[in-house]
Amino acid sequence: MGLLTVVTVRDDDDLVLRETAEPVSRVDDRVRRLMDDMVDTMRDAPGVGLAAPQVAESVRVIVVETPLDYDDPDAGTRLHQLANPEVVWRSDDIVEDQEACLSIPDLYGDVPRDTAVRVRALDREGHTVEIDAEGFEARVLLHEIDHLDGVLFTDRVTGLDKLYTFREDGNGQTVRVAYSVPSI
Ligand code: ZN
Repeated sequence: MGLLTVVTVRDDDDLVLRETAEPVSRVDDRVRRLMDDMVDTMRDAPGVGLAAPQVAESVRVIVVETPLDYDDPDAGTRLHQLANPEVVWRSDDIVEDQEACLSIPDLYGDVPRDTAVRVRALDREGHTVEIDAEGFEARVLLHEIDHLDGVLFTDRVTGLDKLYTFREDGNGQTVRVAYSVPSI
C-alpha cells in the first residue's frame, strides 16, 4: 500500500493545487502506480475522490470511488482510475449540493453542478472509456476534473454564504456554522 501526502491549502507548497496539470502521454507502469497509490490514499483519508495535483503530481489523473447504492452499504462501490478525463457531455441541469475536499480541511460548500455527465478518459490499461454518471458520482467526477485545471469547489460557490463548517455546541450537538473570512 502506498500512501501519499495530500497537499492542502494550508501548506506552503499549495500552488500545485492552482496549476493546469499536464496530460498523460501514455498509461505506463509509473502512471498505474500513481493511480494505485492515489486509491490507497483516498480510501485511507477516507474520501470519494482524489486528483493527482492533490498529491503534488501536476498530471491529469483522477480516482473516484462512490457507492453503488446509497441505501445499501453492502452493495459495494464503483471505482474509476482515469487519465486525461474530459467532460464530453453535460446535462446543463444544475443542482446545488454539499461538497468537501481533502485539500480544504473542515470546509463545506453547497456547489452547483450538472446532475449528469459523460466523461471520456483513458482507464488503468490505457484504453479509451466513456463513463455516464449522474447524481453524486457525476458531482465527484466534476470536482476531481476541476482540480486538473486548478479549480477548487470554493471557486464554484455562488457566494460566501454557501460556505460553512461544523462545530460542536456546548451540549455536544453538531451545528452548522457560517464560514467567516479570518480577520487580519
Ligand atoms: Zn477536492
